[in-house]
Amino acid sequence: MHQVLARKWRPKNFHEVIGQEHVIRALENALTQKRLHHAYLFTGTRGVGKTTIARILAKCFNCETGVTATPCGKCDACLEIDAGRFIDLIEVDAASRTKVEDTRDLLDNVQYLPAKARCKVYLIDEVHMLSGHSFNALLKTLEEPPAHVKFLLATTDPDRLPVTVLSRCLQFNLKALSAELIQKQLQYVLDQEHVSYETKALLPLALAANGSVRDALSLLDQAIAYGQGNIIITDVNALLGTVDTDKLFNLVTAIAENNADLLIHTVFELSELAVDFSSALDDLLTIFHRIALKQIIPNVDTSNWQHVEKILALSQKFSAAETQLYYQIGLIGKRDLPLAPNPRLGLEMVLLRMLAFRPAKTLPISLSDKPTNKTIAPEQVKSAVKTAQIEATAIATTVAATPIAAAATNTLPNTTANLDLLKQLNVSGPTQALLRHCAIKTIANDKVELILEANQAPLLNKKHIERLNIAFTEHFKKPITTEVTLAASAIETTATITARELEQKKADALNAINQDQKIQDILQKFDAVIIPETVTSD
Ligand SMILES: [Zn+2]
Repeated sequence: MHQVLARKWRPKNFHEVIGQEHVIRALENALTQKRLHHAYLFTGTRGVGKTTIARILAKCFNCETGVTATPCGKCDACLEIDAGRFIDLIEVDAASRTKVEDTRDLLDNVQYLPAKARCKVYLIDEVHMLSGHSFNALLKTLEEPPAHVKFLLATTDPDRLPVTVLSRCLQFNLKALSAELIQKQLQYVLDQEHVSYETKALLPLALAANGSVRDALSLLDQAIAYGQGNIIITDVNALLGTVDTDKLFNLVTAIAENNADLLIHTVFELSELAVDFSSALDDLLTIFHRIALKQIIPNVDTSNWQHVEKILALSQKFSAAETQLYYQIGLIGKRDLPLAPNPRLGLEMVLLRMLAFRPAKTLPISLSDKPTNKTIAPEQVKSAVKTAQIEATAIATTVAATPIAAAATNTLPNTTANLDLLKQLNVSGPTQALLRHCAIKTIANDKVELILEANQAPLLNKKHIERLNIAFTEHFKKPITTEVTLAASAIETTATITARELEQKKADALNAINQDQKIQDILQKFDAVIIPETVTSD
């Protein structure tokens, strides 16, 4: 008889449980030292082994060899628990049994001695789903539990448990399993089952299982059926509707290198594989998300990531702002995908838009570098670029208004007049330097509130405040107190304006160099390049 893999390979003892060493060790120690509690709570996302561990624990309590961390697996109690027909293990799925009477029925019987076992075990899954009344009934039992009863509670959502229940349980938090660990387990099962497979076909299955071994084994069952007993990557991708990650990275590389040919060719390849374009876009967003994480937090935990080296390499090809922009374009593209004439066309447009939104100064050059794309006439490119630039402004506004955006612009009330006021203020030396990094938040009757760029916080001290009080009092000709708070996001100050102007001057200088025919001739003659960092504006 065919048995589904998730059931067949469900761990029967602690030794077979994977990825929960911290919980297993604590349970084994307690059992060995006979320090038994009457209520245990297992928490964690679905499919990580909560009820599996609880059932093993039920065997530990009731194995006929005595209370043990290593139940024999052979006695009646062990065999019957494994088969799900042990009379003194009462399993309740609270998700389907929330009525108070049911729980009362259940708990009415608590006082009776076990039919034949050492102790009666109540396994209540999704215990947070019990109604308030049922909780009270449970709580009453937990307060004075009969010596022969053990409660094993499991939940995906411990936050919804009353603290009165939590405080009476020994709590164990199960971890979601890494894709690598799940992949290893799949490999182990396939080896034992003598099913042939491509190793690289297992990772997409493991990833799709989202940390759940049970889900991974169910997917494996489907993959075996789909591939008629042989597991290969193309089948798995087709089954999951997922995309070959190599192709996704080709897409991102095409964007990084402004390579429209590679982009269109890759989309064509994807369409040949009949992938789900919407999930391809999801995967693309995931890649940009990771690139952004790597850019902003260089030592981010990447232990659960695939292709870390590729992400790292790409994170150096984009600026942080570009990454944010491409993510945003992808996100908006995902919203619009159902409106496109067909999904492939929709994805293509999203990707082309990413190319079109590259910084304007490189755009026309790069596009005219690609004359091979015969379907686009130069005039069309020019008008597309113009439209793209107008649209880019619209999108940039969206970016600035959304919390994902790194380069959020200043939304605080602030005008040139305010900054001028700060410049005119009669202060000198370090206080003047400090003011260059400040903006005015409010000016009330007798109070001026300033905001300071957060990275300048170390400069702030009492002396400056005293000097500012004096200066503002002089300026407004009435007593003023000054308050300085740190800015939560980027603000517009004299310092940031100056820095930006300097950048602009440098860009102008570089532009002038690029357009100077004499310099270009020299560069060509000596096969030289300009190093932008060395260009100064004066
Ligand atoms: Zn046994």
